[in-house]
Amino acid sequence: MSTGSFNPFEMAQAQFDKIAEKLDLDQAARELLREPLREYSTAIPIHMDDGSVKVFRGFRVQHNDARGPCKGGIRFHPQETINTVRALAMWMTWKCAVVDIPLGGAKGGVICDPHNLSLREQEQICRGWIRQIARDIGPYRDVPAPDVMTSAQHMLWMLDEYETIYGEKKTGLITGKPVGMGGSLGRTEATGYGVIYTVREALKELELRPEMTRASVQGFGNVAQYAIQLYQQMGGTVVCVSCWDQEDQKSYSFKKEGGVDRDELLSVTDRFGGIDKNKALDLGYEVLPGEAWIEQDVDILIPAAIENQITGENVGNISEKVKVIAEGANGPTTPQADKVIEERGIFLIPDFLCNAGGVTCSYFEQVQSNLNYFWEKDEVLGRLDTKMTSAFVAVSELARKQKMYMRDAAYVISIGRVAQACRDRGWV
Ligand code: GLU
Repeated sequence: MSTGSFNPFEMAQAQFDKIAEKLDLDQAARELLREPLREYSTAIPIHMDDGSVKVFRGFRVQHNDARGPCKGGIRFHPQETINTVRALAMWMTWKCAVVDIPLGGAKGGVICDPHNLSLREQEQICRGWIRQIARDIGPYRDVPAPDVMTSAQHMLWMLDEYETIYGEKKTGLITGKPVGMGGSLGRTEATGYGVIYTVREALKELELRPEMTRASVQGFGNVAQYAIQLYQQMGGTVVCVSCWDQEDQKSYSFKKEGGVDRDELLSVTDRFGGIDKNKALDLGYEVLPGEAWIEQDVDILIPAAIENQITGENVGNISEKVKVIAEGANGPTTPQADKVIEERGIFLIPDFLCNAGGVTCSYFEQVQSNLNYFWEKDEVLGRLDTKMTSAFVAVSELARKQKMYMRDAAYVISIGRVAQACRDRGWV
């Protein structure tokens, strides 16, 4: 979502330019990688329940496929913009490269608000988007997945439309499908769990025991919910969770000094992660303004909602106590805030490393779907842990050796890998 003059694509390009300079990339590689390879903008006419016809706008941006088919989610968001999708597509390229899976980067979006759409209308948007884009995606070309406000059900509708068009089963088209319909066990948990695998490794480096730490989380959607679950299983305490309330279009922070209870909060949450504040008050939560999550005296901050949340204006409110920031969301920190975090020496786990668990598990799902042979959940999560941990260790070793900020180290590894693939193919 773009607010005010914030342009996430300019931010993604600025991050890229900084590392291109560090790596001394040649001009052609810079030109190729700082823009998407391809992008599509489509109109999706939908017959609404009230008999009217509404035209929705959809996007798909394929940033780079030198290392393998493009990969990335599709978002349903009322403030979606092409620049947000471009930035997110570019971040997907770096994300797949940093965990070293053989995929490129893409992202999709439709400007719509599922809160105000019936299930039938949402199904029509899914099918309409596929009809527009079917020729340009595919199991060996570009593989979509769930993202902000899209679910396994949306993925299945999209797959069904695609298979209807092509007249054959092609389950490798899309990931994040329901289990039993080509989905992988562990995919729902994967992004949130992946965040915590990296937090666990960061705490090891800082010689902190998880059970001695406290965290504050922004968001209560799929990523946040499973991050909280695993962190609590490791013995950590979450004292504050903040989320958006659709009804009054504001966000709130829900605090319990002794620790929030994930299941209790879930019982008063709608399917988009909006918490009913009156019910939360009844359950003994303090209900604070949305921004309060960032000011808590905790060891770990986990922004796990959307982009542009830790900014030049609020970065100064981060407590002296904070030692780790784990970016569960894509692009939550603006460049101004990032500078302050780096100067303060907070251990940052950058978004495209921290939240790479989702796409890593999507890769496992693709492998399983294409072979039509499915693994046990323990096997999926075990492999996920191994992938995330080795990616984390590679980045933090580079950061330590070269005295580099974690975000820069992650970029050096991924941009280096993608640029190499482009050179190896003879593109640049
Ligand atoms: N939407 C997720 C992300 O931003 C997952 C993408 C995927 O599984 O392809 O990483």
